[in-house]
Amino acid sequence: MVRKIHKKVNCLLCGREISVCINNNEMCICEICKDKNKLIKQEKMIQRGVNLFRKNKISYDKEIEDGQIGELVESIKKKCGNDFFYGSKDEVAIALELALEDIEFEPQKDVGGYRADFSLPYLNVILEIDGEIYHRNKEKEKLTDDSVKNILGDDWGLVRVPCEEVPNCIRFGIENCILAKLEESEYMKNHGYSDDDKFWSCEEYERRRVGSDY
Ligand SMILES: [Zn+2]
Repeated sequence: MVRKIHKKVNCLLCGREISVCINNNEMCICEICKDKNKLIKQEKMIQRGVNLFRKNKISYDKEIEDGQIGELVESIKKKCGNDFFYGSKDEVAIALELALEDIEFEPQKDVGGYRADFSLPYLNVILEIDGEIYHRNKEKEKLTDDSVKNILGDDWGLVRVPCEEVPNCIRFGIENCILAKLEESEYMKNHGYSDDDKFWSCEEYERRRVGSDY
């Protein structure tokens, strides 16, 4: 067994004296500064998510005021506990859209020991936002529609939104996007193929819904 010998060093950021293992080659940063650093990272991610959200609202001529965005940000921050946070700017933007559409959600929902990005009890949907292809987490691919149904019940389903589709979810609505994807997977289950992908775009879905419901 290797004995751990500690040495006194000064925190790189605040200068406070701390004790670290002599073999530790990491930067010497005290716990207080680590917490502050974490907060700064979270705030930066929120900002990037807000920018993505605002840009796509404006590009689709959907007016949104900074004051309203500020309220949405506060509400999505409140959903997080101390030990977790949104995993990417795309998740932040989707959380903002869910809050805007008044869709109840739980971030980082435990589904059989797996942390899903969002649980949407109103739609009975587990929503996963898949990151950019080259660093898509293998773990994430493990959660399947079948495992969601096994754990939460047959009336639940899994919806995956690749991050490149997040802008459309902001422009045309996340609920439209989810309903389009559910309808698509139902169709594929029954027909085994799709002959018109465009039919299930959230843009088309919004158009059809607005056309038939109002
Ligand atoms: Zn420090």
